[in-house]
Amino acid sequence: MTSPFDLTGKRAFVTGANTGIGQGIALALAKAGAVVACAGRSSMAETLTLIADAGGRGSEHLADLADKDAAVALFETAAREGGPFDILVNNAGIIRRADATDFTEEDWDDVLDLNLKAAFFLAQAFGKSAIADGRHGAVVNIASVLTFQGGIRVASYTASKHGMAGITRLLACEWAGRDVNVNAIAPGYVVTNNTAALRGDEDRSAAILARIPAGRWGDPSDIGGAAVFLASDAARYIHGAILPVDGGWLAR
Ligand code: NAD
Repeated sequence: MTSPFDLTGKRAFVTGANTGIGQGIALALAKAGAVVACAGRSSMAETLTLIADAGGRGSEHLADLADKDAAVALFETAAREGGPFDILVNNAGIIRRADATDFTEEDWDDVLDLNLKAAFFLAQAFGKSAIADGRHGAVVNIASVLTFQGGIRVASYTASKHGMAGITRLLACEWAGRDVNVNAIAPGYVVTNNTAALRGDEDRSAAILARIPAGRWGDPSDIGGAAVFLASDAARYIHGAILPVDGGWLAR
């Protein structure tokens, strides 16, 4: 009997797959049977080794994804060379911290260019191809608990993650009838480079941990399972959802 979570025969394009949440997602998709194109600006060697060790298949595709033209060109070249993609995971993202009164235009633009603009135009390239071919597709966007909360000292990040919810819902409305699922995952506090500064601050780190009902920070593998689900046939009737994977943070 085939599992509804089986991704055998599917091709996935995962941005920011070299480390952290993107690596956890790439590995989980590969374990579920997908062939994973690992995209980003840094070597994917570690992720490809993890995938190979798990008996999966993947490839490396390098570009600065903050340049949306470069991001779309990378996606289209990978699709032309390896075949069209069934799954797109918009994971690559950065964060900049400063008080709102001191926030710079550069820290605004850098974050929005990668976290939101590149994600939208990659989804556009993916959707265009799937709709033109009449092929089922699944987009999984990586949002945040700061899709639902304001946060502090991260103005452009909060804007980008609120925006991610907006484009997730908009694309779901436009594409649900074309057999393309668009959903998002909202991770809570996960142990990655992105949260190194928070974890380095003893007081913030303790306060965050005390508020997480699960009693621990998340691990990238915690996010991988949700990505497999949203990319799979088990989620075929789910459109425009933003699934928190946060140890209960938002329920509190
Ligand atoms: P991370 O810093 O470990 O990973 C970020 C990834 O983005 C890396 O692969 C990096 O190479 C890639 N990247 C950054 N700039 C790039 C560029 N210009 N071009 C191509 N790739 C680029 O952080 P992470 O926590 O794994 O973050 C992954 C996603 O998860 C981000 O969208 C982040 O906002 C989101 N997120 C993280 C947390 C958390 O607690 N760690 C919580 C909520 C959401």
